[in-house]
Amino acid sequence: MTRTQKELSQRVGPMFPNSFDVLHAIGYNYSGSGNCRRCKARILWYRTPQGKRMPMNPDATTHWASCPYAKDFKKQKAAS
Ligand SMILES: [Zn+2]
Repeated sequence: MTRTQKELSQRVGPMFPNSFDVLHAIGYNYSGSGNCRRCKARILWYRTPQGKRMPMNPDATTHWASCPYAKDFKKQKAAS
């Protein structure tokens, strides 16, 4: 385990698996900030290792989990 990984595990802990440090460590790349089109919340766009865009909340949780309109997103498969 590298020093950075050790620090991450100590800082993150089991309750917070989605810190931005962890996201970076597993290959997610920040691609810009914005606002949710539906609930207007401030979000941070990340690109996953699979190349998909994923909106994150400022507290490093996925916006899918907290957006009141998350169900609508899943319907919009054509959204780029
Ligand atoms: Zn939203």
